[in-house]
Amino acid sequence: MNDVILNVSNLSFGYNREKIFNNVNFEVDKGDFVALVGPNGAGKSTLIKLILGQLSPNDGRVDLFLDEKLGYRDVGYVPQLGIGSSYTFPITVGELVSLSLHDETRGFKVFKCNYKDKVLDALLQVGMEDEINSLYYQLSGGQRQRVLIAKALVSNPSFLILDEPTNGIDFETRQKLFSLLHHLNVAHGITILMITHELSDIENYISKLYKLFDGRIERCK
Ligand code: ADP
Ligand code: MG
Repeated sequence: MNDVILNVSNLSFGYNREKIFNNVNFEVDKGDFVALVGPNGAGKSTLIKLILGQLSPNDGRVDLFLDEKLGYRDVGYVPQLGIGSSYTFPITVGELVSLSLHDETRGFKVFKCNYKDKVLDALLQVGMEDEINSLYYQLSGGQRQRVLIAKALVSNPSFLILDEPTNGIDFETRQKLFSLLHHLNVAHGITILMITHELSDIENYISKLYKLFDGRIERCK
């Protein structure tokens, strides 16, 4: 039997009376690279927020099997870029990535002694180490996305969740980003769940494909 990292069972949710999903079931195993696709407004981002515990289900369960000591810190989350998630104030790349180590007082204490090394290491993984002192808002879209991945990787998560990380990014940068994720999956053993519209570019990398539509989820691979 495979080692399960996420189990969603009989999940139902609506922001109001109208349900966005009904009785949704799906599973992510350790080592998986899962793609989640679906039309705009289908509820993909909502599903991620339910997984992260930012929203509570109306019915059903979300079970995440994480490192007990780390809890949600064991999940790296790259939110969908948009209003509210962009950093327009003058913060450097290094400072931004280090924010993930300051989220909780406990985390800060744990990482205090070597947090600069951790930030540099996360930036090295995404090839952005030379930009550690650059201002985040002066970077290109693709560079920003790589920095946000570094921010998610800095606490060494075993599970990485990305919500449309290639929105508004050109073809070449997108290919690089996808091969980076493939590398993190294969060489570092990080389990990945990614929402995307660019399925044709990642077909060879993914182990499972789920489609979310009409309030249902269907496994297509
Ligand atoms: P997707 O990510 O698939 O594009 P979302 O999960 O963002 O879809 O949204 C699913 C549906 O829920 C949409 O109809 C959206 O308008 C609605 N929605 C999203 N967030 C909220 C919210 N905070 N309050 C009420 N409705 C919401
Ligand atoms: Mg979305």
